[in-house]
Amino acid sequence: MTGRDSIGRLVAFFNKFPGIGNKSARRMAFFLLRQEESFLRAMGNTIAELKDHLFTCGECGNISDSDPCPICGDPLRDRSVLCVVESIDDLASFEQAGVYNGLYHVLGGRVSPLEDQELSEECVESLLRHMENTKAGEIIIATNPRMEGDLTYYTLLEILKPQMAEKGLKVSRLAFGLPVGGSIEFADRMTLHTALESRIASR
Ligand SMILES: [Zn+2]
Repeated sequence: MTGRDSIGRLVAFFNKFPGIGNKSARRMAFFLLRQEESFLRAMGNTIAELKDHLFTCGECGNISDSDPCPICGDPLRDRSVLCVVESIDDLASFEQAGVYNGLYHVLGGRVSPLEDQELSEECVESLLRHMENTKAGEIIIATNPRMEGDLTYYTLLEILKPQMAEKGLKVSRLAFGLPVGGSIEFADRMTLHTALESRIASR
């Protein structure tokens, strides 16, 4: 294998990243080529071991180095609110924006007729169990402003309605703020803050 092939393989790897075209992939590869060997080894090992020490949080579905995850294990977080997100990417966006101090619940599924997806019984049970364990009094449904996000919201709302009526559970949805068809993943801090602050109470 010649040196050129190694660079070509590296470019091909970077090319697989979302939003990274050929040109960017080449720039990343040449950036690495200019780094110290210790940097490359540290980075390579981090990637190689990425999945070795990761756990799915049994409470919220987040992925981190521990179970429960640092968010669920943090005594300073507000345990009375659960923010329901579709994916770990969305959770990470909220965390990075630093605009929310409650707990999360990663649904790990959504309603999408086009992809023939329903919310599985397992998804629903895991959410209800999490609500039961935390005794959360408020659920913020932070599904994305798209058809799938809407359908997922309405499905969850139906599931939560008995608890809203019987226990006074508060349910709301993010106000968008976020452009329709956009996504939480790519929203900036201000947009997420606004979406959260002006969330709309469900009935
Ligand atoms: Zn967790």
